[in-house]
Amino acid sequence: MILVIAENTGKKIKKSTFEALTYGKKVALEYSSPLGVLVLGSAENIDDAKLYGADNIYHWEDSRLDTLDSQVHTKIISEFAKEKGVSLLILSHSSMGKTIAGRLAIRLDAGLISGVNSLPENFQHFTVKKPVYSGKAIANYTLLTPIKIITLSSNALQPEILPAESIVEKLTGDIPSALTKVIETKTQSGSIPLPEAELVVSGGRGLKGPENWGILEDLANALGATTACSRPVADADWRPHHEHVGQTGVAIRPNLYISLGISGAIQHLAGVNNSKCIVVINKDPEAPFFKAADYGICADLFEVVPKLTEAVKKLKAENA
Ligand code: FAD
Repeated sequence: MILVIAENTGKKIKKSTFEALTYGKKVALEYSSPLGVLVLGSAENIDDAKLYGADNIYHWEDSRLDTLDSQVHTKIISEFAKEKGVSLLILSHSSMGKTIAGRLAIRLDAGLISGVNSLPENFQHFTVKKPVYSGKAIANYTLLTPIKIITLSSNALQPEILPAESIVEKLTGDIPSALTKVIETKTQSGSIPLPEAELVVSGGRGLKGPENWGILEDLANALGATTACSRPVADADWRPHHEHVGQTGVAIRPNLYISLGISGAIQHLAGVNNSKCIVVINKDPEAPFFKAADYGICADLFEVVPKLTEAVKKLKAENA
């Protein structure tokens, strides 16, 4: 069996799980293998898993599993995977996936590739690609172990509706006792979290100060985009740290990344150069970001961005 581990923070299965199911379904069809999804904790939209091709949906609905405990989750998932004879385990390349994939690999004696962004090129040997050296190169990895684990980068592929005749099987049992206790959880509210965002508008020191962020937010609101920033901007407390993208911040792969007043240093590019389309607005024609851009506007952002925002609003109004 090929098994996807669902992410259901906030009691809802996340889009990244439907991406993983779409990936899993395509691999399952190649191997003529059933596709299962294991959902631990509350999931109000559990039936949506049927739309994305899961043949078997296993749901352990216990609120004690709503919060990730890496030891508890690893124990439950590894025992379940052994029981079901899982050959490929797919997790999202999220903080949850990154936290437990290594532990699962040890428990299952499995080979692990993290941050995969494409389907296997060679199904026989399970060879997949992943970016390396801060996105400067692409490496081919082949997993030789009988049990394989991958974490799938967000937005690597879009969820595809592939309905399956499946029922939800309820799981019960003893939950292993946790060694740690979560006292408080603070979740980011408002826009779509950066790792899942398809549209991102990001600002750098070229914005001159936090008082000018309204320009960026107006464009982001017009597009329905999530906001991000360069590291010096977060370091200077112009923006919160969870918005910092790059080598030492969040790595993202949106469909559209618009950068305003960011130079495009290698450490910044490391987190954003897997974006499908990069638009750079910078007044310096020598700014390194232009080399990575699909579209570049060499101009003063304070003049261009309000015009761009108006153009987006007009276009949206015409197509409403
Ligand atoms: P600057 O380099 O100051 O660039 C500002 C840009 O704005 C310039 O290109 C300028 O031409 C343009 N500009 C100015 N005014 C205007 C205007 N009116 N209109 C249009 N354009 C204008 N950085 C990250 O972002 N993420 C990371 O994860 C990260 N990790 C790092 C890790 C290490 C170990 C190190 C050493 C550095 C790291 N950095 C990271 C920092 C990185 O090297 C750069 O210093 C940083 O990305 C620069 O931020 P910036 O482009 O906002 O600012």
